[in-house]
Amino acid sequence: MTKYVFVTGGVVSGLGKGITASSIALLLKSRGYKVFMQKFDPYFNVDPGTMNPIQHGEVFVTKDGCETDLDLGHYERFIDEELNYTSNITSGKIYKNVIEKERKGDYLGATVQMVPHITNEIKNKVYEAGISSNADIVITEIGGTVGDIESLAFLEALRQIQMEKGKSETFFIHTTLIPFIYGSDELKTKPTQNSVKDLRNLGISPDALACRTPYNTPDNVKEKLALFCNVPKENIFDEIDEKNIYRIPLHLHDQKIDEIILRQFGLKLNKANLKYWIDTIDRMENLKGEIEISLVGKYTELHDAYLSVMEALHHAGYKYNTKVNINWVDSEKLEGNIDLKKVFKNSKGIIVPGGFGSRGIEGMIKAITYARENKIPYLGICLGMQLAVIEFARNVCNLEDASSTEFKATCLNPVIDLMDDQKGILNMGGTLRLGNYECTIKKDTLAYKAYKETKILQRHRHRYEFNNKYKEIIEANNMTISGINDLANLVEIVEIKDHPHFIGVQFHPEFKSRPNRAEGVFATFIEAATKKK
Ligand code: GLN
Repeated sequence: MTKYVFVTGGVVSGLGKGITASSIALLLKSRGYKVFMQKFDPYFNVDPGTMNPIQHGEVFVTKDGCETDLDLGHYERFIDEELNYTSNITSGKIYKNVIEKERKGDYLGATVQMVPHITNEIKNKVYEAGISSNADIVITEIGGTVGDIESLAFLEALRQIQMEKGKSETFFIHTTLIPFIYGSDELKTKPTQNSVKDLRNLGISPDALACRTPYNTPDNVKEKLALFCNVPKENIFDEIDEKNIYRIPLHLHDQKIDEIILRQFGLKLNKANLKYWIDTIDRMENLKGEIEISLVGKYTELHDAYLSVMEALHHAGYKYNTKVNINWVDSEKLEGNIDLKKVFKNSKGIIVPGGFGSRGIEGMIKAITYARENKIPYLGICLGMQLAVIEFARNVCNLEDASSTEFKATCLNPVIDLMDDQKGILNMGGTLRLGNYECTIKKDTLAYKAYKETKILQRHRHRYEFNNKYKEIIEANNMTISGINDLANLVEIVEIKDHPHFIGVQFHPEFKSRPNRAEGVFATFIEAATKKK
């Protein structure tokens, strides 16, 4: 029988609900329970795939091709489980399903309403996560802040679940803020009291509070919270501001959050095995070396737009005992008259991650030329791979006007072109080539060094591909095609031999990186960067 933990948020957004949820999941997993995670997002986009990364941050992709909120990336990095379509549910998805059912006639003459039709749809998504994952415990995060109009239907559905299942099968944890007021120099509980009051007005009594606070809350503050919020004092947890998010599970474990949840569920208190996690943290906090990597992209003003790439760079750094500092380079700025030598002066590697549209493209290509010619380790991801091909076609193969039809439909040499099965697609939402596809790797290549296997599965998110008409000329000029998807005859990896590390991958390896397990091509990239003089 699956048990359910729900994480809500109050007072303000950005308190780290996702990290709280992931931490709880990690702790329960460390005690031998099978966990699964899920996020409800109150917005009306069916998925975040069509949202601007500068507004919304990165789009994370699951193995089965669901485009999701970036919190899913945190979940996977914390619990080291691959999530799926049932893990990210938006209001858009819920309403779309309900309206489709109504059109089909599934409601048999009923008036379709918020309660019970929308709320039933939400409840089904919660239960479906439990059933399809076969998990002992499902941890569901509810996006937004209690009090928002948008999250009302979700909270009503959870209230019903709390009523149906009771305390032995549900655990509600409310994440709130305890601000410190300078002058009177005290921690204030009123915003939390009000937020819990809002939640209780909706019929949900939280079982626990996770309080974001600048320092540990003293006993009298906890007592006050317990009294006014109707939560036992030992169920009030401090989440002090912590630079290293990976430490948060340990702080919560010290306060016995996992034990309290398991007790409420009547589940056995197996010993928590956290040694691997503590070792990982020790490693990341005691790095000897330090290097700079330039990340060239057009969404650099919001670092969250590259969250998983950033994480993967750091994880690879941990493997080589090196702190990776990122030099954020706005690709558009490289397009003017600018001294690249100055921009990349301290960089031991250049990475061009994924992206869409034509803005800033020429700046990225300039950076790639610079990396190729000056033998600076290069890693191109998705768009970064496609641009490496374009750069090579233009400057090594002398293919005039080489480009991608994404940026220039009429270019003379479309070395990157729309995939055949994308032609004729008019809907932009959810129609890219998404999720896991196999890649066959050639031996004696950098790709093989990175993966040590000839068959790998990687996650994708693209519409364009290497144009096979140019295979011959590209290879004749010594760019190696080292990875192919056999089924679609689609180029997945390109590399250049006479270079310390020049590789482009059509997939998104960043999604599979873990703090204690550097991803293959990120690892070879950082290794090469650490060796660069
Ligand atoms: N815009 C390119 C494409 O659609 C690359 C996508 C990406 O980098 N994720 O193929």
